[in-house]
Amino acid sequence: MTNNKFKILLVEDETNIQNFVAALLETSGYQVIRAESCMTAQTLYSSYLPDLVILDLGLPDKDGMVFLEYVRKNSLTPILVLSARSMERDKVAALDNGANDYVTKPFSAAELLARVRSLLRISRFTAHEDRGLDGRFSIDELLIDYDARQVFIKGEEIKLTQTEFNIVAFLAENAGKMMTYSAIIKAVWGGCAQEGSIKKLQVNMANIRKKFGATPGTVNYITNELGVGYRMNS
Ligand code: CA
Repeated sequence: MTNNKFKILLVEDETNIQNFVAALLETSGYQVIRAESCMTAQTLYSSYLPDLVILDLGLPDKDGMVFLEYVRKNSLTPILVLSARSMERDKVAALDNGANDYVTKPFSAAELLARVRSLLRISRFTAHEDRGLDGRFSIDELLIDYDARQVFIKGEEIKLTQTEFNIVAFLAENAGKMMTYSAIIKAVWGGCAQEGSIKKLQVNMANIRKKFGATPGTVNYITNELGVGYRMNS
């Protein structure tokens, strides 16, 4: 039985949080491997090859970013950063260095589990399926036809500009992941994230959200985290 469970490496030095998160994950049927330091995390990572890593950035021996870079050197294992750091630049740095998502303490149990499920779903998806095969992406009532460069919601075409389509297509290709401003700008305009281009991106996003009919209380396909980036929800 145990062998069928997803293995999650939990790197966290605060005992209370470690126990809380481990209990939460175990109750949800995951196998949890615990590490309190960057050193232990590296050793356990190589011997267990977990399906997902939950990583605290403030570790006693080294910065969690060191472990993040260690994992990213030769693996795409999803990494969820869990940290008290609420500074936007720390989130951006973690995401730009290969973290897949970010949860800031204090977080709710439901929020953490939702992120974990989402990241495990993505990794299974990319490992076993090629979603680009038929040139389409769909989520709920949103459908993207890459070949025709068309977007539909509830079967009705949403008229997007070329730039708006490129942004939506890029976010959909990375559905479930928080994409930083600079990652989106690089993919869409090929430049670096300067003030002007972030503004340009935000203007385009505002138009996209308007066209998507994003209103409170309805399904929002794209989440905006101010100062960090955007995520197409999976
Ligand atoms: Ca810590």
